[in-house]
Amino acid sequence: MTTFVDRVTLYATAGRGGDGCVSVKREKFKPLGGPDGGNGGRGGGVVLIVDSSITTLLDFHHSPHRKATSGHQGYGNRKDGYQGEDLILSVPNGTVIFDSNGEQIADLIGNGTVFIAAQGGHGGLGNLALASSKRRAPGFALLGEPGEERTLLLELKSVADIALVGYPSSGKSSLIAAISAARPKIADYPFTTLVPNLGVVQAGETRFTVADVPGLIPGASQGKGLGLEFLRHVERCVALVHVLDCATLETDRNPVRDFETIENELAIYGGLQDRVRIIALNKIDLPDGQSMADMVADELGQKGYEVYPVSAASRAGLQELKYAMARLIQRDRAAATVQERTRIVLRPVAVDDSGFLVKANADGSFTVRGKKVERWVRQTNFKNAEAIGYLADRLAQLGVERELFKKGAVAGSEVRIGDGATEVIFDWEPTIEAGAEQLAGHLHRRGEDSRLESTWVQVERVEDVLSDEEIARQWEYNVSDPHTPKLSLPIIDDSDGDTK
Ligand code: GDP
Ligand code: MG
Repeated sequence: MTTFVDRVTLYATAGRGGDGCVSVKREKFKPLGGPDGGNGGRGGGVVLIVDSSITTLLDFHHSPHRKATSGHQGYGNRKDGYQGEDLILSVPNGTVIFDSNGEQIADLIGNGTVFIAAQGGHGGLGNLALASSKRRAPGFALLGEPGEERTLLLELKSVADIALVGYPSSGKSSLIAAISAARPKIADYPFTTLVPNLGVVQAGETRFTVADVPGLIPGASQGKGLGLEFLRHVERCVALVHVLDCATLETDRNPVRDFETIENELAIYGGLQDRVRIIALNKIDLPDGQSMADMVADELGQKGYEVYPVSAASRAGLQELKYAMARLIQRDRAAATVQERTRIVLRPVAVDDSGFLVKANADGSFTVRGKKVERWVRQTNFKNAEAIGYLADRLAQLGVERELFKKGAVAGSEVRIGDGATEVIFDWEPTIEAGAEQLAGHLHRRGEDSRLESTWVQVERVEDVLSDEEIARQWEYNVSDPHTPKLSLPIIDDSDGDTK
């Protein structure tokens, strides 16, 4: 079984946001000043950044779980908590990112390109920020939110500038070793022989990377051998160098036929037609190699290719080959568009998260789902009655209460917000104020409620959920509009306690 390290899973966990602080200003002779609790700091994010000096995803293979630090809680005296530190992880140029469903979500090209793998959680507001004319001295603060957790698949398509292709043993690895000024560190790669060899070549002012594509044999494009895996690495190359063995002992092979076989594999794989090719006739240090090279050079030249007789062993012809490669690179770099060089920052798409959904369950309970709503719940300290009241106000303002009314919820109904482990269950107590305002202000002017336009609310009509008797039992009908409750609703008017 072959495993490729250039495909790894990353479990990214961003830092938690710090909790907001509840604090009251204390001054001499003025024991109770205003609220002065600061906000919690944002949690650190997990950030991927392209660093072209890195050539493998090996680090992730060794430690796939990465976590950023949390934000600090807010302090008194109007001081916000420190932010968590972003965890910055370097990835090779050409790293492609897939989500856990296998959808490609980013393709990181260009040194410095940034991808936010997991967003840090928001810090909670302190009681200073929560104070308003209505709520002058809040005795609560919001909790920080958990950081985002994401499982991502990273795949490396090497961005070598030039790929060496050819039969096994034609001398590709030897050539890379002979022309490389530096070898990116691949020694500790667990599968050295299966890894495309990478070399950094310096020819005059031009510096470029060369990769060899191992295991390219007839049938590779159909998955025979390992060629297919490595052809992925070729996809991004500017040019291909055919390394042809001029001293092969196999009688049914010769450089021209080898060339055609490899070209045939590339053609079946597809997508590489437009890459420039040049030809290196290798092993001319051997007498047979030199005479074979002499024999085929013209024929290949007539096909329109630049042909370079070389020897990786004696280093003959290597300078010419290097400079030929450098010319191809220079031409390509000059043509590269400005846009490709721009540093890109990729963030998750901002979505309108204010939508929510209220569902009446068969057991009489109600489920509320929605990004924003669930976030508010996570921010709520349920040990603090005031904090719960604040949550209720927010829910009412968003229209959740109104929707609960419409779906038939009554005081005491079980309302569940969220799902699974994060689900919070409580007995619903409609806020009198919010409820009355909702019903008086909005239900009567349904069409005019701007929030209905700005948020999506899945509207199931009340009668879809409740029988007519049930509705009649709960609401006093307004004759002209049987589904619009009058203001004197039993569930709202519970001030005397007996109509509840
Ligand atoms: P690859 O499979 O294409 O990477 O080929 P290698 O670089 O591993 O070389 C295969 C064999 O050919 C090795 O034994 C090398 O020593 C030999 N070889 C490579 N280049 C030359 C050359 O220029 N001259 C001679 N005489 N042998 C070479
Ligand atoms: Mg090799």
